[in-house]
Amino acid sequence: MPGFEKDESVLSPAALGEDAPADRALRPRTLDEFIGQDSLKANLRVFIKAAKQRCEPLDHCLFYAPPGLGKTTLANILAREMGVNLRGASGPILERIGDLAALLTDISEGDVFFIDEIHRLNAVVEEALYPVMEDYTFFISTGKGPSSSTLKLAVPRFTLVGATTRSGLLTGPLRDRFGIVAQLGFYGPEELRRIVLRSAGLLKIAADAAGADEIARRCRGTPRIANRLLRRVRDFAQVDGDGRITGDAARHALSKLEVDAEGLDAMDRRLLRAVIEKFDGGPVGVENLAIAISEELDTVTDVVEPFLIQAGFLTRTPRGRVAAAKAYRHLGLKAPRRPLDLL
Ligand code: ADP
Repeated sequence: MPGFEKDESVLSPAALGEDAPADRALRPRTLDEFIGQDSLKANLRVFIKAAKQRCEPLDHCLFYAPPGLGKTTLANILAREMGVNLRGASGPILERIGDLAALLTDISEGDVFFIDEIHRLNAVVEEALYPVMEDYTFFISTGKGPSSSTLKLAVPRFTLVGATTRSGLLTGPLRDRFGIVAQLGFYGPEELRRIVLRSAGLLKIAADAAGADEIARRCRGTPRIANRLLRRVRDFAQVDGDGRITGDAARHALSKLEVDAEGLDAMDRRLLRAVIEKFDGGPVGVENLAIAISEELDTVTDVVEPFLIQAGFLTRTPRGRVAAAKAYRHLGLKAPRRPLDLL
């Protein structure tokens, strides 16, 4: 929408205020309901079955993927499939050892303890977590100076599920303590169409296959965005049409929302335009690119560019980011001929 900031964009993969209740309502609750990521699901089924047969908690799991692809959903599903409770926290709120202690004392045998944004744990809390993950022992220091002592507490055996946007953001020692490390990829149009139709069913929205396809094509491969677009498109269909989401109704709504035919928003286009117009198409280092579009480096690397790279608009080379021919075409610009060593 004109004047929309990235954070409020209908295409932002991060959860916006209105998403939390909708995310919960639409969240698949079992592996069968979870659409896509088939090989990961198949492996998780084996790990769950094996752990249950041995009467042991599941190994610690690390899921990495850009926001909105289902990491929190999977943590919830693991708890449900294992028949245990889920306790949740996020890296930045676990500021002190005491915060971690409070959560650990609440854990029962086998529980899933989910830490979102685990790469943002501070070093002290992270180090306290190592022995907890390894042999369920938690060390707490009490007092200061010569009178200080260390208490050793046993924690029930549990499963730590960590979520992060990139596995490379974690320190080696933390990453090594996860038995199961899995990346979630962007979803294909067919999977997204199933996700849209499933959500439409749950929300009692009449959407046909063409309407669902239109949303599926333009949601940056991200279920959270698909669900948000579905809700916004419903508003237009209700006010400007007869309430049904058809192909035409979806196209009308998405053009009002300024979601273009490839599902790019103003920020994506700004980034591609900057590479092309300010840096001659690249290569440009991602730091310079972030400065050129006045955006935080993390937002560019974790949120904006993964999809642009996956969708073939941008390439990552050892010397920096390069605009692909598809980016020129999409913006209606003429692609220059490039020496091969730049591609
Ligand atoms: P993340 O933790 O990776 O940011 P979430 O797990 O919160 O993402 O997913 C966002 C929303 O997208 C969920 O509430 C759910 O409704 C939907 N979703 C995610 N993955 C799937 C999936 N595989 N199938 C169906 N819906 C999904």
